[in-house]
Parts: sequence; structure tokens; C-alpha cells
Amino acid sequence: SYPALSGRTAVVTGAASGMGAATARLLAANGTAVALLARREGRLKELAEEITAAGGRAVAVACDVTDQESVDVAAARITAGLGRVDLVVNAAGVMLPNPVDDGRADEWTRMIDTNLTGVLRVIRAFSGDLRAAAAEGGTADLVNVSSIASHVVFPDYAVYAATKAALTHLSAALRSEYGPRDVRVTNIEPGLTDTELGTHIDNPALGLDGQLGAMFRSIQPLTSEDIADLIAYTVSRPRHVNLRQLIALPTHQA
Ligand code: NDP
Repeated sequence: SYPALSGRTAVVTGAASGMGAATARLLAANGTAVALLARREGRLKELAEEITAAGGRAVAVACDVTDQESVDVAAARITAGLGRVDLVVNAAGVMLPNPVDDGRADEWTRMIDTNLTGVLRVIRAFSGDLRAAAAEGGTADLVNVSSIASHVVFPDYAVYAATKAALTHLSAALRSEYGPRDVRVTNIEPGLTDTELGTHIDNPALGLDGQLGAMFRSIQPLTSEDIADLIAYTVSRPRHVNLRQLIALPTHQA
């Protein structure tokens, strides 16, 4: 358990499934009030009910991070419902591999707008809260979920990898803005993890019936709970300790 998480207030994007949902669940179980953000409101409401029934505090806030107005409305609802936020976890993301020569501009736009600009929108919506919490002597954290793909080349993942490499660099660069203000920034870089991420791939050769499925069969993947535990650990360190970048791989993933 993570006693340091008691009494904190978090926003978790991508909370409808996978790492975001697991992180929200773990934070809430340790006494953090959580705002659950994603597009599928039904999923968020189910998770909020589960957390509340277990004695935690959660609000479901439907939000599309690719839409500035949606993020603004969500931020206002969170301020009204939970008050000031001191922990932001950006887990929302999409992974749509295809050869660049297929020219899938629809996928490029969606990945850039979700994985990079979406993260920026959420950071901007809550950075004032994080700074204010830190200025009062509290602990304040920004956690971005990037990927091992920001360092390692996977064939046909060029655009996804580019968004994650940009996010990794954004996280490192933001430490120069936020660190001096006592807001920590952590970049989490998971390897293969068993979530819904691969279900949106529309190229059969690359999806769960193809290359990605083969990877799942040959490597025992991480679970969303493994990543949630890493995030909870990271944000529970003493205030002057910032774990800047964490790569977590399945033991069998090279
Ligand atoms: P999931 O697909 O299970 O989770 C992604 C979440 O993002 C969903 O809850 C989805 O909910 C939400 N989301 C997607 N688009 C938007 C949007 N426009 N606005 C708001 N929310 C959105 O996959 P993971 O848990 O694996 O993904 C979490 C993060 O981990 C991602 O950033 C991913 O790139 C990264 N990652 C994953 C790895 C893996 O192997 N699984 C490896 C390395 C990194 P909804 O559809 O309801 O909006």
C-alpha cells in the first residue's frame, strides 16, 4: 500500500480501460480522489461506482482529449466536483501501426492529436493546479505514459513511435519549467502490456491476428496493474525525489 497517496486528488486520462483504469483503481484504493477521463462514459461510470462501493472517491468525466472544448468542460467539472488537482496521469493514447507509404493521414492525425497534443491540452488545463499545490508545500506530479517505442524501432510503427518519442522529450523538457516549482514530471515507458490498445489496429497483418498477436504469444506481457503499481510507487517518493523516466519491460521482451 501507498500511504503517501491518501488525501491527494488526481486526474487520470484513458481511465476507461487498461493502464488508466488500473491506475485510477489503485490510487483510489490508497485514498486519492480520482477524476476518470475518457470518451466512453459508460465505462467510466462503472469504474466510478466500483471505486465508490469500495469506499473510495471518484467522478466520471466524459472527455475527448482531441477536443479543446471537451477538455475545458472536463476541467471545470473536476474543479467543481473535486477541487484542486495535485496529480495528473496522462494515459490516454492510441496506437495505429501501418507503413507510412499507405498514407493513412487519418491515423497520423488521430495519433498526434491524442498522444501528443491531447497530452498538452490536459497538462495546460491542470498545470495551474499543480503549481498551486506545490507552492503550498504539497506534493504535485505530472505523469505521462509514453512507450518503449520512443527508443526502439518496431517495423510499421513509425508515426506512433514518433508521437511517443515526442512525448518522452516533452516530459524531459517540462522538468525545466516545472521542477523549479516543485512539480515533478515522470515519463513512464512500458513495453508490451495486455490492454485494449491493439484492438483498434485495422491492418490484419499487424493486429492481434497477426504480428502483435504473435508478440503476445511469445512474450508474457505486463499487466495494467504492473504499470499502475509503478505509477503509485513513483508518485509516493519523498517530494524532493523525481523519478524522471522509467522503462518497464516484460522480462522476455528484448
Ligand atoms: P487502452 O486502449 O486500454 O487504453 C487507452 C485509453 O485511452 C482508453 O481508456 C481510451 O478510452 C482512452 N482514449 C483514447 N483516445 C482518447 C481520446 N481521444 N480522449 C480521451 N481518452 C481517449 O490501452 P493502454 O492502457 O495500453 O494505453 C495506455 C497508454 O499506454 C497509451 O498511451 C499507450 O500508448 C501506452 N502504451 C501501451 C503499451 C501496451 O503494450 N499496451 C506499451 C507502451 C505504451 P476511450 O476509448 O473511452 O476514450
